[in-house]
Amino acid sequence: MDNSDVIIIGGGLGGLTAGARLARQGRKVLLLEQHSVPGGCATTFRRKGFLVEAGLHELDGLDASDTKTTIFRELGVFDKVDFIRLPEFYRVVTSRTDLVVPDETGAAIEVFVKAFPSEAKGIRTFFSTIHALRDEVDRLPANRFLTKLLYPAFPLLYPKLAVLHKRTLGEFVDTIIGDEELKVALLANYPYYHDDPYTLSLLYYSMAQSSYYRGGGHFIKGGSQRLSDYLASVIRENGGLVLLDSKVTRILTEEGRAVGVAFRKKEGDEQIARSGTVVANAAPPLVETMLPDRERDLLKRRTGGLTPGVAWLSVYLGFRRDLAAFGNRAYSTFILGDGALSLKAQSPSRRPGFDKRGFAFVDYSRIDSGLGAEGKSFGVITTVDYIDEWEGLDDEAYRRKKDEVAGLLIGRLDRVLPGIAGEIEYAEVGTAKTVQRFTGNPGGVATGYAQIPSQAGMNRLEHRSPVPGLYFASAWSRPGGGFTGAILGGWSCAAGILASKS
Ligand SMILES: Cc1cc2nc3c(=O)[nH]c(=O)nc-3n(C[C@H](O)[C@H](O)[C@H](O)COP(=O)(O)OP(=O)(O)OC[C@H]3O[C@@H](n4cnc5c(N)ncnc54)[C@H](O)[C@@H]3O)c2cc1C
Repeated sequence: MDNSDVIIIGGGLGGLTAGARLARQGRKVLLLEQHSVPGGCATTFRRKGFLVEAGLHELDGLDASDTKTTIFRELGVFDKVDFIRLPEFYRVVTSRTDLVVPDETGAAIEVFVKAFPSEAKGIRTFFSTIHALRDEVDRLPANRFLTKLLYPAFPLLYPKLAVLHKRTLGEFVDTIIGDEELKVALLANYPYYHDDPYTLSLLYYSMAQSSYYRGGGHFIKGGSQRLSDYLASVIRENGGLVLLDSKVTRILTEEGRAVGVAFRKKEGDEQIARSGTVVANAAPPLVETMLPDRERDLLKRRTGGLTPGVAWLSVYLGFRRDLAAFGNRAYSTFILGDGALSLKAQSPSRRPGFDKRGFAFVDYSRIDSGLGAEGKSFGVITTVDYIDEWEGLDDEAYRRKKDEVAGLLIGRLDRVLPGIAGEIEYAEVGTAKTVQRFTGNPGGVATGYAQIPSQAGMNRLEHRSPVPGLYFASAWSRPGGGFTGAILGGWSCAAGILASKS
């Protein structure tokens, strides 16, 4: 193959965003994706007449303070992809609480204070702290070394960051709120970031949660594949190449530097592509297996011992009629474990069974989603999943277990939305194993390394790897996972490459 300026391994959102920015800046980009469609976790697929969203429930922000707004403007995303603002943040249902939480700070405070009046002070402190942390991070200098130089002045310049950057969400909330029921309702969506609030970085949580309370949540009309396809088209239209069904098997190095890759198209012969800049959107543990021994050891010195984040199980649901008529009160409903309800006790990291583990139900019929099928609608149940719960099963046992889990979760949903089970025409379970099969991500983890304080913020894996010429742009590196993390990561990785080459 002709030499490229940049080779990207993987067409998830991090790889696509980096590729789109670099191609727009005149770099000759070659993106290699092992799957038959671009997008990684950001894809849709057709099943029994339904258009199924594989991942996206909601995307935060898109307000003026959100960097994604600038990125999408610069890449022309808003001209081609429609974002639908969700009607509210979420509904949370526990054995004692049933609240609909708005996606705007003042209105959300009102709802929580009305339900838990004795905790009004703590509720206000919670919101002011997550916003202050985000504002302080936004004010940090773009240059990392400058930020390090400023460390001694942090207590003065960035007072919240200075005190709270090493805190976990659970520890922090325990200092301001006493009512366990409130903690559970206020933090209902934390499993989107990590499976344990007592190890989840407060800083990372605040960045994402503050964005939801400022800009709201959004869905991509027609599904997340629209965004992935558009970003791939930007690469192509700017002289780049996006090769699907193309799996990178090795990263080539010379004198310790990345100089290209070897890849295979389906079962074809190995092909070689050369470039002095290689960007890995594929997970770093996979990258380790692609490198020669010396470079692998070098990389492992940085990544060895890092803890992976959370995986999810989805029960995709096609409904025989439009659920809009069903009277569900929210787009996202968090249905939390029965029984002893404290933040600690209901943490999925304690591995309650699927009969107790909290889950989210997303009802896409609440918006004009472009999913589902004519006169019908689509929804999904999602909960935290662990790949080891699915290991060691033969095909039949795996299928049986998936059916059992779907039955349990649908049954619990039906208790909150009576009759909904009878509306289901199609149900399919995607486990952590499924995500691993389609993306290669170890453990089926969709958000990269866990967002615990030692791996979040300034401590997160850098874009520039220890192997010269090799970069990371994915949920696993800075700033982290989710659509937003992967997009911001791809964008800033590309900025680093452009700066180092100009
Ligand atoms: C069920 C589910 C629900 C989710 N819901 C939300 C949500 O509501 N909101 C939100 O913000 N985020 C959500 N996420 C998370 C979000 O989708 C991911 O964090 C993000 O898309 C990850 O992007 P990434 O760039 O790291 O790449 P990934 O999506 O992990 O993709 C990596 C790509 O690399 C490719 N690859 C790997 N190895 C090779 C190789 N050797 N050669 C070529 N290609 C290779 C893979 O095929 C894949 O396409 C969800 C994820 C899942 C799974």
